[in-house]
Amino acid sequence: MFTAFLIKYAEIGIKGRNRYLFEDALVHQIKFALKKCEGDFQIHKSQGRIYVETQGDFDFEETVEHLQHVFGISGICPVVYVEDEGFEKLCDRVIRYVAEVYPDRNRTFKVHARRARKDYPKESMEINADLGEVILKAYPEMRVDVHEPDILLNVEIREKIYIYSETIPGPGGMPVGTGGKAMLLLSGGIDSPVAGYMIAKRGVKIDAVYFHAPPYTSDRARQKVVDLARIVSRYTGPIYLHVINFTDIQLYIYEKCPHEELTIIMRRYMMRIAEHIAKETGCLGLITGESIGQVASQTMNSLIATNEVCELPVYRPLIGFDKQEIVEVSEKIGTFETSIQPFEDCCTIFVAKHPVTKPNVNIIRRHEHNLDEKIEELVRTALETDELIIVD
Ligand code: ATP
Ligand code: MG
Repeated sequence: MFTAFLIKYAEIGIKGRNRYLFEDALVHQIKFALKKCEGDFQIHKSQGRIYVETQGDFDFEETVEHLQHVFGISGICPVVYVEDEGFEKLCDRVIRYVAEVYPDRNRTFKVHARRARKDYPKESMEINADLGEVILKAYPEMRVDVHEPDILLNVEIREKIYIYSETIPGPGGMPVGTGGKAMLLLSGGIDSPVAGYMIAKRGVKIDAVYFHAPPYTSDRARQKVVDLARIVSRYTGPIYLHVINFTDIQLYIYEKCPHEELTIIMRRYMMRIAEHIAKETGCLGLITGESIGQVASQTMNSLIATNEVCELPVYRPLIGFDKQEIVEVSEKIGTFETSIQPFEDCCTIFVAKHPVTKPNVNIIRRHEHNLDEKIEELVRTALETDELIIVD
């Protein structure tokens, strides 16, 4: 029965000079999201609103589901639109609308009419009163409540007339593309996909880098990361995923550095390489799934050590989250089931039994000098063999 959607977006984005950027990005993201839906959709801006109109058959549930993945949308209102064929016809349609949408009509309501077109023969107040009366006559079990109605029946007089009353929640946030781009360090765990989701929600486009260590890490571990990127890309749009072969660097660190510092030094090289790719591809920051104290490499001392090798800001949106809170978001966004598949993203032989929890940066730096002979070349080779996968 619905023929269109009115897209509500957060107030914050529509203010000031950024308004057009915001709206255009939102329209772009909606188009992208609906490309994968059955149906013929027209998306247009009109007087500070965005409408998705449909032509012919479409799957309502599927369309809503896709719209619920578009950041920047705060609400999705299913709309019935009708041609303006006089007030009588409109009354009939409104009565039918109420019957269709509210099988249980033991509720209060209020009509809220708006004239976007001033040549309509009735004023808003008059439309409110007249339609209210018509509804009461048709459904005596309904009552008017102008302060807190159960049903707020919106009637917008435009070229066509739009009728809507329900709002389905959107994901909130800002449209991807309005906030620049950042490089996500994406592993196969629970945390990093959630971290990417959270930064993307603020309008940031996401690229990703995954470090694998074949044959110590399997093809299936790698596939799991691609799968995770695909799930996140439903929210973010296409993700450029850089797969970096980290094996030789890891082996070299293993050979030359104290084993209890392996994780920290490895992490420092991941950050350096990620930053290098980030700068080359126009990213304005790095994103990780770190959270204070979660493991030895995420104590505040360890974070000093991983942080100091980068110039770009490192965004750690999960820094103050408990594991359980992270799990809840991952379940909500649909990455959890994939994240818990048992393919290790990091080989256990490279993980020390007693990793340092309070690394001293000066000592770490000194030990990194053990790598001077070959590390530059190994990093260069890793970058040269960067394998780019476009995930969407
Ligand atoms: P996650 O659940 O994201 O894997 P984790 O709890 O396993 O996180 P660590 O393995 O300590 O934590 O990694 C911390 C962060 O470093 C990750 O959230 C991720 O951003 C990054 N990272 C770790 N391993 C890799 C990897 N192989 N490739 C890319 N990024 C990685
Ligand atoms: Mg991990």
